[in-house]
Amino acid sequence: MFVGHYGVSFAAKKIDASVPLWVLFVAVQLLDVAWAPCVLLGIERVRIVPGITASNPLDLYYMPYTHSLVAAVLWSAGAFVLYRVAVPRSPKAAALLVAAAVFSHWLLDLVVHRPDLPLYDDAVKVGLGLWNLPVLAFGLEAVLLFGGMWLYFRTGAARRTATAAFCLIMLAVQASVFFGPPPASDKAAAATALGGYVVFAAVIGLLERRPRSAAAA
Ligand SMILES: [Zn+2]
Repeated sequence: MFVGHYGVSFAAKKIDASVPLWVLFVAVQLLDVAWAPCVLLGIERVRIVPGITASNPLDLYYMPYTHSLVAAVLWSAGAFVLYRVAVPRSPKAAALLVAAAVFSHWLLDLVVHRPDLPLYDDAVKVGLGLWNLPVLAFGLEAVLLFGGMWLYFRTGAARRTATAAFCLIMLAVQASVFFGPPPASDKAAAATALGGYVVFAAVIGLLERRPRSAAAA
């Protein structure tokens, strides 16, 4: 899953508005944010196999450190501790929300991935394979993204038009991943993904900043 993860970020704002949206954007993609450098360094492996799923050509055959269930639990716990340390005055519930956002990545990946998600190490791989039904998989990404955005807007969020336009752009990026040409290589896929995560988090950080008039009030 790709942009659908961000629906969880938006929905989390409805639960606790104190956590910055850019933090939640990084949190829901943390496993992939860690995966990309692991692939670039050769610690985890992916190969491009056109046709391996109906919507993307990624054969994610070795990713025990970022996408096993055990690893997802550990990354979530790490995010909890990091948030507690980085924002010491925030309530424990806020750090728990960040940890839950990190873990949500694995659950949503479980729905779409082919059985390439190990429960532990590189063993017992699971995945429900919705990627083989591209229209449904794309629809799920859109419903999650815009459903979450709708919840976020109900918190009185600023810059709704710009945020909605940004979500449409993210969905267009998703469409190009699903229906466009395959990535040039495994490393190109990882580098492009990482660049996307950084840019998306930076843009939502800018969009969430309070308008100047509201900040002065
Ligand atoms: Zn992932």
